[in-house]
Amino acid sequence: MLQEKKLLSIVIPVFNEEEVLPEALSRFVKLKDKMSDVVSVELIFVDDGSRDSSLNILKAAAKTDETIKVLSFSRNFGHQIAITAGMDQAHGDFVAVIDADLQDPPELIEDMYAVATSGYDVVYGKRKSRAGETLFKKATASAFYRMMSYLCDVDIPRDTGDFRVVSRRVVEAFRGLRERHRFVRGMIPWIGFSAVPFEYERQERFAGETKYPLKKMLSFAANAIFSFSKKPLTLAIRLGVATIALGLLMAVYFLYMKLFTDTPVPGLTAILVSIVFFSGVQIAFMGGLGEYIARIFEEAKGRPLYFVAETINIKQAD
Ligand code: UDP
Ligand code: MG
Repeated sequence: MLQEKKLLSIVIPVFNEEEVLPEALSRFVKLKDKMSDVVSVELIFVDDGSRDSSLNILKAAAKTDETIKVLSFSRNFGHQIAITAGMDQAHGDFVAVIDADLQDPPELIEDMYAVATSGYDVVYGKRKSRAGETLFKKATASAFYRMMSYLCDVDIPRDTGDFRVVSRRVVEAFRGLRERHRFVRGMIPWIGFSAVPFEYERQERFAGETKYPLKKMLSFAANAIFSFSKKPLTLAIRLGVATIALGLLMAVYFLYMKLFTDTPVPGLTAILVSIVFFSGVQIAFMGGLGEYIARIFEEAKGRPLYFVAETINIKQAD
């Protein structure tokens, strides 16, 4: 009996990528055709509120090919939510996630899929090199991954992004995680199941510029920390305890000086400096606490993660 062919869904978040899309489309379609002997492929483009002609380019492509599916958001909701929406729509037995800018070569999905079908639930791209990225980006990225591995209880593999192939059961599990502040590359390891790295050379962006300017990168990092780790709170407690200990030591020292020596107790400067310093510490930690409260506030509202403005080649029932 002929076994029914499996389906692979490829999720591609798109935000203002008109310069890249024609080339990306042609490479994704080529890949789809190449893999068609092994597996059926659907391409799910999630237009994250692009303000250029990205959506029109995608629509035109979807018109002639019904395996090209397009979902467009009502506004820009962000890369991580775009990935989520794509995974919500994916029907595949396996689902690949890849950026539109061709930094991660689409052709690799064929090999990653082969690895996945050999018995892994997660095959994640691991960057051997980062071509065309500035020293600054490389340094900040490396510092970020180091800090995350210290802060998080789940092991987030270093030098990985959102380029990966996952199995149906990972997708189902992921669908159950509806938090608003999403850090997908941490959520997938948190879900678990068997995972294996797939090393590759990260390319330069094909065209256009990064949609993660420094400001967005910082908020991505802050988000990863505050929505994924409660360690800053623990650190705050530890620092507090250490400060109390320091205060006690100082008290004992000054008391000793006053009672048992003739040396006058040093005065105002020490008091001023410590007041200013520790007020700073307190305010900073209150701010940190605020980050958590803000997240509770956001989650408590329980709003939908995104709104869909338009879909093409996607049945709305699901
Ligand atoms: N992207 C998105 N929404 C955003 C920002 C980016 O969907 O708000 C998409 C973007 O089109 C690309 C992917 O996410 O396909 C990664 O963005 P980018 O390549 O700019 O990030 P970088 O590789 O520079 O970190
Ligand atoms: Mg990129």
